[in-house]
Amino acid sequence: MKIEELIIEGKDKSVFATDAEDSVLVRFKDLTAAFHNIKKAVLNGKGAVNCQIASLIFRKLEEQGIATHYIATVGDCEQLCERVEVLPMQFIVRNVIAGSTARLLNVESGTKPANVIYELRYNNSGAGYPMINEHHAVALGLATYDELKGIRETLRRIDEYLTGLFASAGITLVDFKLEFGRTPGGRIIVADEITPDTCRLWDAATGEIMDKDRFRYDMGEVCATYREVLERLQKVIS
Ligand code: 5GP
Repeated sequence: MKIEELIIEGKDKSVFATDAEDSVLVRFKDLTAAFHNIKKAVLNGKGAVNCQIASLIFRKLEEQGIATHYIATVGDCEQLCERVEVLPMQFIVRNVIAGSTARLLNVESGTKPANVIYELRYNNSGAGYPMINEHHAVALGLATYDELKGIRETLRRIDEYLTGLFASAGITLVDFKLEFGRTPGGRIIVADEITPDTCRLWDAATGEIMDKDRFRYDMGEVCATYREVLERLQKVIS
């Protein structure tokens, strides 16, 4: 496989074309950014640990019959993935209220709601990344009602599976953000990544924060904690 031109330089990843028309090379970066790029730092080793965590999780999701863009891990920080058009929306799933939803609803962080909360955000800086609903998404032509229904069911299955996986590693999956992409053939598949950068992960016994909030709120030991997440997952995965 030959790596060709840079297609997109994201916050956490760079995506390159390859000589295979239907696949791209995703390179996980050590750079980390929060609060819409206001806070930035280079964390040595973050790209590698996140690449390993995302690879492990994508493989497990594929085993569950959940279609993702992941093809293979081809380097310390590199994955070969299917080429997709990423839908400009963030799909957020919350098992425990925290972060922006604790603020929005004025509910104490750590509250367990009776239901799982699904949120949709429009990835549009001009609009200020607003929370939208499925009708807005259809009105904007971002996806069809049928596609959104399929995505919701996929999110439910991912949440069910990952909640159990993390629980067996002694970690509570508080919430996570996911993005989806459309293949040239029109299939909607999981894209982006699932890592401590995109999830809230709390130690089930102590409540210790094991995710990007360590960076957001200057708690230190970011990569060491991500490595602990990886090691715990590796132990419970056969
Ligand atoms: P919140 O809306 O509470 O800030 O975030 C909800 C979940 O989505 C958290 O797990 C958070 O890490 C993730 N998340 C929200 N926005 C972003 C984002 O712009 N980038 C990444 N990587 N994750 C996000």
